[in-house]
Formats: sequence, C-alpha cells, structure tokens
Amino acid sequence: MRPGILTVMETVIGLEIHVQLLTRTKLFCSCRADYFGAPPNSLTCPVCLGLPGALPVLNKKAVEYALRVALALGARIREVAQFDRKNYFYPDLPKGYQITQRDMPLASGGSLSFKVDGQTKTVRIRELHLEEDAGKLVHLADKTLIDFNRCGVPLVEIVTEPDLRSPREAREFLRALRTLLRHLRVSNADMEKGELRCDANVSITVAGQLGTKTEIKNLNSFRAVERALSAAVEYQQEKLRGGERIEQVTFGWDDAADKLVVQRVKEEAHDYRYFPDPDLVPLLVSSAWLSEVMKEMPELPWQRAARWAKEFNVPEREAEALLSEPVRADFFEQVAKAIPNPKAAVGWVLSELWPYWTDENPPVPLADFVLLIRKVEEGALPRAKAKELLEQAATGKGKLAELVRAAEGELLRDEEGLRALASEVIAANPQALADYKAGKTQALGYLVGQAMKKAQGKADPKRLAQIIRELLKG
Ligand code: ADP
Ligand code: ZN
Ligand code: MG
Repeated sequence: MRPGILTVMETVIGLEIHVQLLTRTKLFCSCRADYFGAPPNSLTCPVCLGLPGALPVLNKKAVEYALRVALALGARIREVAQFDRKNYFYPDLPKGYQITQRDMPLASGGSLSFKVDGQTKTVRIRELHLEEDAGKLVHLADKTLIDFNRCGVPLVEIVTEPDLRSPREAREFLRALRTLLRHLRVSNADMEKGELRCDANVSITVAGQLGTKTEIKNLNSFRAVERALSAAVEYQQEKLRGGERIEQVTFGWDDAADKLVVQRVKEEAHDYRYFPDPDLVPLLVSSAWLSEVMKEMPELPWQRAARWAKEFNVPEREAEALLSEPVRADFFEQVAKAIPNPKAAVGWVLSELWPYWTDENPPVPLADFVLLIRKVEEGALPRAKAKELLEQAATGKGKLAELVRAAEGELLRDEEGLRALASEVIAANPQALADYKAGKTQALGYLVGQAMKKAQGKADPKRLAQIIRELLKG
C-alpha cells in the first residue's frame, strides 16, 4: 500500500481460533485430556512426552467432535485428510514438532452467522483442522517450570476469512461460536480456562486495497480480543498517518497493562518445514461414519431459538442470553414445559432467577422453582412475595420449597377474614368505589392493591379480587 494515502479506511479482521475438545483422552495417546487441576506432569506417557520410538494412535472421538463442528458450520468435509508435522523447537514441545493439518485439513468452507447491533452478520470459514496442544510453561521469579499435562490435548483450529469489520464484531462472533461449541457438547469453550483461544489478524483497507496484517497471538478473553484489536487498529492508523509503511508484526497482549507487546517482526518469520507425518496414515472419513456423526448432532442454537420462538414466544434477544450456556438453556426449557403458561417462563428465568445465577448450578432446584411459579400462577402466592422467597432461597436463607410451603401456611385463607378485609378497604376508599361504579374498572386493581397492603402480602390476590368485585356489584 502507498503510505500517506488516507481515503476511506475500513478495518478488516480474520480470526484463527483454537478450541479445546472435551474428549476423555488426548489426541494421540490414552492419557487423560481433562488436565485442569491435575498435579503437574501426572498425565503423561511416552507418546505425549515425545520419547523415541513411541507411536501416535488417533483418537476417534476427537475426529467425531471436530466433524460435528465442521457440519454445524456447513463446511465441506474432506474424504481423505492428513496430518502434518510443524517443526520448531520450544521447551513445551518435547517432540520438536507439533502434529497438525496443513495441506489437507479435515474441512473447509462454511460460515457462521451472528447478531451484532440487531443486524445479522455472516463470516465465512476458511478451514478447520485438528491438532495437538503443547505443554504449559510456568514462569516463576527465578526459574521456569514445565507441565506436560496439556501436551497432546486435542484442539480444533478454525480459521475465518477476513470478513469481520470491527473489534466489536470479532467479539460477538466469538460469543456466537462459543454458544455453538457448547451446544455441540464438544468443548466447554471457557476463554478464562484457555479452552477457547484466539489469534486475531487485523489490517486497514485504504481505497479498496487489503492492507498488511498485524497479528495478535493468544487472546483469552472476549474483552482482550476487543481491546487488543482496537489497539492494533490504532497502531496501524498512527503508522499510516505518519506516512510509514506497515510491516508485518506479531504482537502479544498484556492484559494487565492493557497494551500490545511486540513478539516478532517479519524478518524473524519461522519456516516450520511442514511435511506429512509418516507415523500416521491418512484419515479417511467415510460417508457411513459421517452419517453416524450426523445422527448424534444435538439441536443447534439457532434451531433451538426458532423453536422457542414458536413454542414459548421467546424473543430473539432473550433467546440469545438463555442459549449462552446450555445448562441454563436446558433449565429454561424444563421450566417452560412444566408450567401451565410457558410464555411466563422467560420472565421468570431471565428477570427473576438470572441475577442470582452466578456459577454452573442453578441457584435453586428446578422443581422448587417450578413450584414457586405454579403457586403464583394459581394465585396462591402473591408475585412480590414469591420474589422475596426466591431471593431468600438463592442467597442461602432456606430451601425454596419449604419457604413456599411456609408462606402458603401464612396466607389469609378464611373467607370471613378476606371479606372483612375487602369491606374495610372499600369503605375507606369511597372515591375508588365511585370510580368503579362510573365504569373505571382499573379502580378494582387499586382496591385489591390496598387490601394486599393491609394483609401485608399474605392474601391470595385473585381471590381478593373476586370478593371485592362481588361486593362492588352488590
Ligand atoms: P498467514 O499465511 O500469515 O497465516 P493467512 O492468509 O493464512 O495468513 O490468514 C490467517 C488469518 O488472517 C485468517 O484468519 C485470515 O482471515 C486473516 N487475514 C489474512 N489476511 C488478512 C488481512 N489483510 N487483514 C486481516 N486479516 C487477514
Ligand atoms: Zn500420553
Ligand atoms: Mg496461514
């Protein structure tokens, strides 16, 4: 690009995303892959430690998970895929090479659509392949330790076309991808745990010409993706304004300092000397195998959202929030199916329960939550009281089902009492009485409200309304 020309600038972003698969074992050996919390170097064997003579054996499940992702993205599956060696030296890579797929990746093409500012955006997928993860370096003040537990853990790498147009779009795309991966049950895709990591590439297009890209490695939070990309855009703009050429630079991201850190410039670009791994036969994906995988495909998030819209009247935005975590989506769906008016479920789950839902498990048991909603819908429990009980239960002050039963016991049930209360309120509010007689039916609601207040919420508002209506007619 000619320096110094600043006409219409457009930001262009492409992502390379690494997804850690939820298989029980590693990609090429039978060591456990769920290393989180395991003692360092306890999940290793000659294969993943790269000892001479040890041979890799491909994990079928990992391939099936990768195929699931490829199918969900609408990618073309390669009938014959191949594994390549990517050679480089690094202490966390005991073999001296990483097994990946370069020339014949498992799948290519496809796309993912997502919402950003109410608009649907579609990003094309360039390719998707399987590879193994490296070990982990732990840097201490005076030394560095190596943990090989992560070595050989299966990853799917998804490479997008440069179709994203802003750091925000990149973030929202990743969110949508996370939702998809979680629904496919192939990864927890938790960025904080490194189960979803992303290398972001960005350039500025001037007058229709694709600019030189700046790469930022290993971003591991949505915020970091957005912040780092914004910083890289600024970096490029500065250069262009100063009339400088943009060199190809690879950055890391210092989250604490909120700034880019130069990792390497173009001259240091690696030559990885890729070649087909002679220890591994080509990977054949038969149509029979593929249809097996298809049979096990869970409902996709966008299919679920469409079904919810029909069955439970769930608006798009609300569906998005509910779908972000399958555990919550499942909880919501069970609530919707268990209550007489499923349309009320969104409000109950998103507005009432959501604020208390901070970790994996729901703040109250499903059955108790359903009981609470049913009681309110039946008119056996005032809504305000129900919210109070929910708060108590969710903050550890009792079991919800027990609180509901106790509250019900306290309810003013005897008809005599309710009638006395109703008459009292009517007598005290002659204006409301006159309004009602003049046809202003909302006066009824006011009177019920007054009566509920007097009963300190311990009455059934539906029954009260009936009684007040009868008295007003008489
Ligand atoms: P490399 O050969 O340097 O790895 P690739 O062409 O394979 O580059 O692309 C890697 C990633 O960078 C892809 O996600 C792609 O969409 C993105 N990308 C490529 N060119 C650009 C560009 N000019 N601006 C922004 N992103 C780009
Ligand atoms: Zn192993
Ligand atoms: Mg490339």
